[in-house]
Amino acid sequence: MLGLMQDYPLLVQTILDHAALNHGEREMVTRSIEGPIRRYTYHDLRIRALRVAKALQKEGIGLGDRIATMAWNTDRHVEVWYGIMGLGAISHTVNPRLFVEQLIYIINHAEDKMLFVDLTFVPIVEAIAKQLPSIKKYIILTDDQHMPETSLPNAHAYETWLAASDADFEWLSFDENTAAGLCYTSGTTGNPKGVLYSHRSNVLHSLMCNQPDVLGVDSRDNVLPIVPMFHANAWAITFSIPAAGASMIMPGAGMDGKSIYELLESEKVSASAAVPTVWLGLMQYLADNDLKLPYLKRVLIGGAACPRMMIETLENDYGMEVIHGWGMTEMSPVGTTGKLKNATEHLQGDERINLKLKQGRTPYLVEMKIVDDQGNDLPRDGVTSGHLLVRGPAVSSGYFKIDGDILNKDGWFDTGDIANIDSLGYMQITDRDKDVIKSGGEWISSIEIENTAIGCAGVAEAAVIGIAHPKWTERPLLIIVRKPDADVSAEQILAYLDGKIATWWMPDAVEFIDEIPHTATGKIQKMILREQFGGYQF
Ligand code: AMP
Repeated sequence: MLGLMQDYPLLVQTILDHAALNHGEREMVTRSIEGPIRRYTYHDLRIRALRVAKALQKEGIGLGDRIATMAWNTDRHVEVWYGIMGLGAISHTVNPRLFVEQLIYIINHAEDKMLFVDLTFVPIVEAIAKQLPSIKKYIILTDDQHMPETSLPNAHAYETWLAASDADFEWLSFDENTAAGLCYTSGTTGNPKGVLYSHRSNVLHSLMCNQPDVLGVDSRDNVLPIVPMFHANAWAITFSIPAAGASMIMPGAGMDGKSIYELLESEKVSASAAVPTVWLGLMQYLADNDLKLPYLKRVLIGGAACPRMMIETLENDYGMEVIHGWGMTEMSPVGTTGKLKNATEHLQGDERINLKLKQGRTPYLVEMKIVDDQGNDLPRDGVTSGHLLVRGPAVSSGYFKIDGDILNKDGWFDTGDIANIDSLGYMQITDRDKDVIKSGGEWISSIEIENTAIGCAGVAEAAVIGIAHPKWTERPLLIIVRKPDADVSAEQILAYLDGKIATWWMPDAVEFIDEIPHTATGKIQKMILREQFGGYQF
C-alpha cells in the first residue's frame, strides 16, 4: 500500500523560492570582478534568476540542454546557476584551472550550447573558441561599461542580455530525477569524467549538509564559500545556505589572504569553507599583520587532508571550530565531517587534535564501509585500513555519456581512497589507493607523513612517494619544497619527524625541489613526481 502524501518533486528552484519568501531580507554580497562590493537580497536574487531563465528560454534553451559557466563565486554566477536549473537545463560549471586540452575536451563532450564567462577568463576562452563548435553564444558576466574588446563570436554583456528579459516567468516543473548540474572530475589519468547531479540528489544533499554535525549553519549566519562553485558545487553551499536562510558572501576573484580577511571582517562572516592552501594564505596574512577574526566561528576544511598545525593554530590561537571534511565530486561532494560528538567532546590537547585530523563521520544519507582487496568487509576498529566504499542518494551511479557500471553488485561506489573507520564512526584517509606505499607487507600512509612534515619550520609543502626497494618492496621518499629563504636540511626534517610517526614509516631519504605539481583542484600530482623520480635509488 502506498502512502497518501503529496507527490512534491524535489527541485532546486524551490530552495530559492523558500529563501526569497522566508528570508528575503538576507543578503547576497559579492566582491565583484570589476572591483567594488555589490550587495542585494535573496528576494532580488530570485528575481534575477527568473529573468535568466526567461532569457535562456528565449534563446531556445530547454530541458536537458547543457549551459557552461566559467566563473568565480559571485552573485551573477549564482543567478545563472539557478536560472539554468529552474528551466530544466543543466548547469555545467567548468573549472578554468584545467589544462587547455581538457577544457576543449569537456566543453565538446558536454556539447554546451552557451558559455557564461567572467572577465578574468575571457582570454582563456578566446584562445580555444574556434575549437568549441557547440557554443552558439558567449555571455560575458559584466555590464556594457566593462565589456572588453573580444574576438569571441556572438558575445554579449550579461547585464544587457538580462535587461531584455523580465521576471514574469514561472519555474518549470519536471521529474525530480531530471539532471541539474554537470561537473567533470580531473583524474590524474585519462580524460575528465562528467558527474551528472539531479535535482533530487542536490536537494537531499543540501538538507544533509544543513544537519548540525555537518556545517550546521542557521538563519543568523553569514557564510563565505571560498571553495569555488566549479569545485563540486562549492561543497553544496550555494544550495544549503539559502535553504537555511543564512546570508551568502561571495569572494569573487579575491582568493588571497588579504582579500579574504577583509570580507570576513567587513561582512561579519560566521562560517566559511575552503581547501587547506587557502587557509594557509589567510593564516600567514593574520600572523604577518597581527590580526584576529572575532566573528568567524566555524571553518570547514577539506578537499585535501587538513594539516595538524592548521587545526592547532585556528582552534587554539584564533578560537575557531575546525570541521575537517572529506568528499569527492562523485558524492555531490560531502561525505564526512569530523565534528566532536557526545563520546568525544571531552577530549583535550593532542587527543582532541588527533580526532580532528580524522576526516570524520558520515551524516545521515551517506553510507560508507571499508573492504579488503577481495571485497570482504573489514572491521571498524580504527586500525585496519581498506578500500573505502560509499553509497547514498547523492552518490553517482555512472558518468555522463560513458557506458559501464561504476557500482559493485550491491550498489557501492569505490572512492579510490584507503581509510580506516573507528568504532565511533570516525573515518581516516590514509592514502589514495594508487599512492599507498607497500612496505614489507604493510601499508605506509603518505598523507600522514606529509602532514607531519608540514609542521617542521622552513617546510612549505611536502609529498611522499613510494620508491621500489629490493627488500621491502617499496620505501617512502619525502619530497620537500622549502619556504622562501628557508634552508632547512634533510637531517633537520628527519629529526623533526622522529617520534611523531612510526619508526618504520621514516622516509629513507629527503629530496628538495622548487615546486610540487598540482591538479586543477589543488591535489598533488604524484604520478608526475613518480615519473620525475623514476629510477631513484636510495
Ligand atoms: P575531488 O573529486 O576533486 O574533490 O577529489 C576527491 C578526492 O580528494 C577524495 O577522493 C580524496 O582522495 C581527496 N580528499 C578530499 N578531501 C580530503 C581530506 N579531507 N583528506 C584527504 N583527502 C581528501
